[in-house]
Amino acid sequence: MGYNPYKPRARGLFDPNHTEPYRLSRSKIDLFIECPRCFYLDQRLGLPRPSMPGFTLNNAVDELLKKEFDIHRKDISTHPLMKAYGINAVPFAHKEMETWRDALRHGIQYYDKKNNIILRGGIDDVWEASDGKLHIVDYKATSKKSEITLSDGYKRQVEIYQWLFKQNGFPVSDTAYFVYANGKTDNKAFDAKLEFDVCVMPYTGSNDWIPEVIDHMYQCLIGESVPGKGTSSGNVCEHCDYRETVGKALYSLHVQGGKSEKPKTSKKETYEEAQTSTLF
Ligand code: SF4
Repeated sequence: MGYNPYKPRARGLFDPNHTEPYRLSRSKIDLFIECPRCFYLDQRLGLPRPSMPGFTLNNAVDELLKKEFDIHRKDISTHPLMKAYGINAVPFAHKEMETWRDALRHGIQYYDKKNNIILRGGIDDVWEASDGKLHIVDYKATSKKSEITLSDGYKRQVEIYQWLFKQNGFPVSDTAYFVYANGKTDNKAFDAKLEFDVCVMPYTGSNDWIPEVIDHMYQCLIGESVPGKGTSSGNVCEHCDYRETVGKALYSLHVQGGKSEKPKTSKKETYEEAQTSTLF
């Protein structure tokens, strides 16, 4: 049998009896805000949501933008895009920059003593303004004909980075910047190249909500019951609809004594009972 990415993982799970600090990335804070149930399934039971395909073209744009801004970081000079948008800053030169950018292993970190949790996030860039304040910068790539707008998730992302830098004692501006590359589709032909319009979008956020969310996340983690399903907007997401539909189909086979799912008990459970017992 091949590799099953949905086999519950045993490593890196939250254990309420552990005394070691528990590590949570920025994306897990977002998962908790989106839906505490999937957060719990992931962090306590090792059952993550299905992964998305890798955005390799977006990653390529990220890499190239990093290289481009790194030239100006080394030269302590203002990038033409910053000049075009009247931003009086230079890319921040700091010995930890590559560590902060390493989202998988490091990122910028902060130990929350109250909840014994280490929070971390991997940034794209930081710009240092002439007044010494730091602007968090995130690179984004898309291809849209309609106007580009910032999603709530993107806004939360930079707010968490701002907060992490503040907790590390840096003077952080409440204004973050998105460097947005928009792939053009109005060229006559592909000609083995993709052209982009690049703009800078400022966003002024707030970090006030973060400590309370961390407290709620901790309470969720130490709880012994799985939170109810539903996203923060009160809806059930596509994954849940899928699980529900498949679950009902399998349950139907189960109660009929179908070939694929033989009944394990003579008791006729309702679908809801089966959800909490052996099947789902
Ligand atoms: S609605 Fe369901 S699948 Fe979606 S995030 Fe919540 S528990 Fe997970």
